[in-house]
Amino acid sequence: MAYLEAASPHTMNTYGRLPIALDRGEGVYVWDVNGKRYLDALAGIAVNTLGHNHPKLVPALQEQIGRIIHSCNYYHVPNQEKLAAKLVELSGMTNVFFGSTGLEANEAAIKLARKYGHDRGISRPQIVVYEKAFHGRSIATLSATGNDKVQKGFEPLVEGFIRVPMNDIAALRQATDGNDSVVAVMFETIQGEGGINQMRIDYLQKVRELCDLKGWLLIIDEVQCGMGRTGKWFAHQWAGIVPDVMPLAKGLGSGVPIAAVVAGPKAAGIFQPGNHGTTFGGNPLAMRAGVETLRIMEEDDLLENAARVGQHLKGALARELGALKGVVEIRGQGLMLGVELDRNCGVLTQRAAEAGLLISVTADTVVRLLPPLIMTEAQADDVVSILAPLVKNFLAE
Ligand SMILES: *Cc1c(COP(=O)(O)O)cnc(C)c1O
Repeated sequence: MAYLEAASPHTMNTYGRLPIALDRGEGVYVWDVNGKRYLDALAGIAVNTLGHNHPKLVPALQEQIGRIIHSCNYYHVPNQEKLAAKLVELSGMTNVFFGSTGLEANEAAIKLARKYGHDRGISRPQIVVYEKAFHGRSIATLSATGNDKVQKGFEPLVEGFIRVPMNDIAALRQATDGNDSVVAVMFETIQGEGGINQMRIDYLQKVRELCDLKGWLLIIDEVQCGMGRTGKWFAHQWAGIVPDVMPLAKGLGSGVPIAAVVAGPKAAGIFQPGNHGTTFGGNPLAMRAGVETLRIMEEDDLLENAARVGQHLKGALARELGALKGVVEIRGQGLMLGVELDRNCGVLTQRAAEAGLLISVTADTVVRLLPPLIMTEAQADDVVSILAPLVKNFLAE
């Protein structure tokens, strides 16, 4: 197979990359520089919401680039207000700060929680975080992350985090009992990098109640599971709750770097002028991408599509793989699915790519599917018909 011969010697050695360079895309397909076609069931890690070269998105972005790309936050950016109003409407929250990456949204959330504490006379505020969580790779967000591999070599970690297991309300109560410095609880509704681990509906509701009772902020990191991927705009909406702070990024701009931290009434007034800022955040190109992505998602009913095709895909995976010895669990919601195996299976990303399918393996043992929200049932069947034999052969080795 004609793959790239070598990686660039000039970029830092931060990724174990596959020997593939993608050159162009169309819908749920991408082609590499050698002309080989792949079915994209990863969407650039939950980023390409509308797939590739979307006929409604691309002309709008081209028009925007010809108008103005960047201005800066010394001036008003009309589409910031438009996108913020839309996110407020969809979330039931009140105000938005825009950034450019997921870790940046999470940094803003952590700063909000700390200042929330300081405003209440708590001098060393603490935030409850979770085992297997992933919140980013800045020093504060990697400290909030529950993965030794992400933290190792970067100590000392930022203090002020208390770690608990997921879906265990007694453990949360116990870990915070009598601690007046707790200011917030922070988690992903469905852990992405941690292996597609879902918070139970009843647990989400109990944590919301506990936060109300204790006066803590509920911070829900929807960077990966949000933006329609599970069939609701935000995955926590399946539990009928509303967070106080919600970091967003990945799928919000369908490929253009963009992030947002959305705040409800308890958190919206915490930042005052001078407390926070960013150069790229909220720039005209990113805001146009966000506005158009949401508009197209609504126009084309992509939430309904994500729910329906996701269920179809999960059903097909269950039929093909569910009964196999070595398959621990098939889980997730909408188009955020994981197949957990009983052994390390990182090799499957390369084998799938060789077979023309883009997937990822996360938490060593979980095959992760995060396709564009435009995927059809027939394309979902194609995902399974490529993936299932690979998994079967792998487990039989
Ligand atoms: C990817 C991810 C982040 C970090 O986003 P970056 O854009 O890579 O900084 C944070 N939280 C969650 C849940 C993520 O999946």
